[in-house]
Amino acid sequence: MKSPKTVFLLGAGGMGMAPLALYLNGAGIRVEAFDDHFVEPVRTQLLESGVEVIDEPLPRNPPDCVIRSSAIDKESEYLKPFLKRRVPIFRRGDFVARFTAHRKVLAVVGSHGKTTTAGMLVWALEEIGHPVSYLVGGRFEKDTILPGQFIRDSWVVLEVDESDGSIDGFSPSVTLALNSDWDHVDQYSAGESFEETLKNLFTRTSHEIVVPRKSKLQEIAESIDHDSVTCFYPRSEESADFLSTNQAAAFAAGKSMGFDLSEVDFNLFPGMKRRQSVLFESESRIVMEDYAHHPTEVRSFLSQRRILQPEHFLRVIFQPHRFSRTEKLAKLFAEELSLADDLYLLPTYGAFEKFDPAGAVEALTGYLAPRLRKETVVFDDFTDLRSALGSSLESSKKDQIVFVGAGDLERWAHAFAAFEKTNGNKHDAFSCFLADRLSPTTILRANIPLGSKTTMKVGGSARWYAEPAHSEDLRMLVDACELFGIPRVMMGRGSNLIVPDQGYGGLVLRLKGSFWKEISLRSDNNLIVGAGARLQEICRYACKNGLVGFEFLEGIPGTLGGALRMNAGAMGWETFDLVEWVSFLLPDGSIRKIPGTDLTVGYRYCREAYEGIALRAKLRAEGRSDHRAIRTAIDKLASKRRSTQPRESSAGCIFRNPEETPAGKLIDQLGLKGEREGSAVVSNLHANFIVNEGGATAEEVISLIKRVRERVRETRGLLLEPEVGILGKDWNEYLS
Ligand code: FAD
Repeated sequence: MKSPKTVFLLGAGGMGMAPLALYLNGAGIRVEAFDDHFVEPVRTQLLESGVEVIDEPLPRNPPDCVIRSSAIDKESEYLKPFLKRRVPIFRRGDFVARFTAHRKVLAVVGSHGKTTTAGMLVWALEEIGHPVSYLVGGRFEKDTILPGQFIRDSWVVLEVDESDGSIDGFSPSVTLALNSDWDHVDQYSAGESFEETLKNLFTRTSHEIVVPRKSKLQEIAESIDHDSVTCFYPRSEESADFLSTNQAAAFAAGKSMGFDLSEVDFNLFPGMKRRQSVLFESESRIVMEDYAHHPTEVRSFLSQRRILQPEHFLRVIFQPHRFSRTEKLAKLFAEELSLADDLYLLPTYGAFEKFDPAGAVEALTGYLAPRLRKETVVFDDFTDLRSALGSSLESSKKDQIVFVGAGDLERWAHAFAAFEKTNGNKHDAFSCFLADRLSPTTILRANIPLGSKTTMKVGGSARWYAEPAHSEDLRMLVDACELFGIPRVMMGRGSNLIVPDQGYGGLVLRLKGSFWKEISLRSDNNLIVGAGARLQEICRYACKNGLVGFEFLEGIPGTLGGALRMNAGAMGWETFDLVEWVSFLLPDGSIRKIPGTDLTVGYRYCREAYEGIALRAKLRAEGRSDHRAIRTAIDKLASKRRSTQPRESSAGCIFRNPEETPAGKLIDQLGLKGEREGSAVVSNLHANFIVNEGGATAEEVISLIKRVRERVRETRGLLLEPEVGILGKDWNEYLS
């Protein structure tokens, strides 16, 4: 295969794709990488290595080819623009097979232990001063060791995945096969067909086949009459001793590559994340997570726990991975899980499979040992699970709590461990959980005064305050709030908000960094704008580029996010007059781009921005004109605004305009201009503004609002509704 100069990786955040991005980037290929769900520190690792992490599934440079993860279906919308332009599209495995076809490849294959063994091997080679290229399908416990690396003219150690059939494209120099249990039941109809696949791979292996001694794999390797079959000795017949078996395999593989690893102390291997990882340990409790998602892996891990901690009560939280596997292997899973003293189940994690009731977690329950069948419950709420497990402080007996599975239960495992580490204090647990999950450029602080972050300049502090660097960190913060029961609220420029004097007991989120401030012109006269961009900046940018329709934003001191939430408007125009689409982080954690025509929008209201978080939008110009003409229109609006609105600190209009008469006019007619409560005063210039003359409190502003409202109600029989928001509260708490 001719080496591409530029590639685009779709679904680049997973542990198949991210190592490939690092490897190709190291090989001097320009890599643009997109995922709608990156996690840290993977995103930062890619960025710091020089991979271009992009926020839209459209690369900035035309790629020579697109590589898609198996999570991206071949019918995906993301692929359409490339299909149209006839850009070659590869599945990850197919690309890797072709790209490495003329290199010295050591392929690590088998149903279990690939990641740990491949990780051990490349770590050990590094230890003896022979670093090699590699792609490993998991993160090392030490984040300084990356999951992918390119070294010119070296061996390439590849973890070859059998799950999507792309294994058939590989012809390695050395194959290290670890085991051949039946897995990926969607791909292989029975154990034999996977064995057949391995047999074919052995046949295509040019130099050496390395297999465990006295195993089915040895039989297969010997049946093909290959010149060189080496057997490694599993250190023990006990499946619980799988780590020594992995070591023996790594050692033998090193030898077949021509390296002697006998001096390496494998006890120093830092391990791979989510593999037998200890998340919390005290005298009475151990909390662990493990990636086991096949019955054999579950048996190995649970029996290892029984042997290592015989005194500790074994409590297992299990999340089945994929409906197809759960359906076919339900009985075996249930048998192995019966090693647990207590079992807690989570709904099946589908990965990219659609829900299938036959593979739902309930498929296991009928096969469980009778003692577990009665007691075992399925949990879909973290708080319920946490209270079922209880805190180690309350528990009288020693226990080990193990989270087992390859799905998203690691969030729950880490959240549970964070509670244990902090004696159940939710705020300490929240910050402990987030400590290594956010990018270095994200700001998360405790007890931050908020008044100065608003235009009204009143109010107390936020218990937590964050400026996420990008949408993945925003999603992580939102998710953490959910897990730890911490309320959260968005703040833009704070130009439509009053912060209560007591402050806010949860997390205030602000979209402030450069990621959120993007304003860029698209060829079709539209602007792509981040939710953190200031309206005045958008207006200026549009003017400079000759785009008509943005002029009214000039005097509104907010951000796009706040303007979308409020459908801010002035002089007869509203924000949604401009909107082509908005992308939102929705309450279910998904990010969706919704066309303006599908949104529920009204006067100073947008339902989707109320329920979700606006991230960015495409804004449509009315047309084009000379920038000087646009400037003149803006200046006219600005001068009108200057003569009608106060310049002191305020939050803009306090009340929504009733249909009958503008609120300002009503208040003025009652002679309430100049009415005051401490330093909060009804503006003499515009009666619907309350200004802070300096040093006002939120209580004073709120009392004045109540008084004005009451006077309008008494004299005009009209109940004014606030347009301004009160951070984290409902006006009903103050006005009823
Ligand atoms: P904030 O005040 O910070 O927040 C407003 C609301 O939006 C809050 O509920 C907040 O939680 C939510 N929010 C913020 N970001 C997001 C997000 N990304 N996703 C979802 N929700 C979010 N308003 C007008 O409509 N027309 C005017 O002419 C006008 N003139 C003003 C003049 C002055 C002097 C002042 C002080 C205010 C004026 N306002 C006006 C009010 C205010 O500027 C607008 O409502 C503006 O849109 C608020 O934006 P913000 O970024 O400041 O939002």
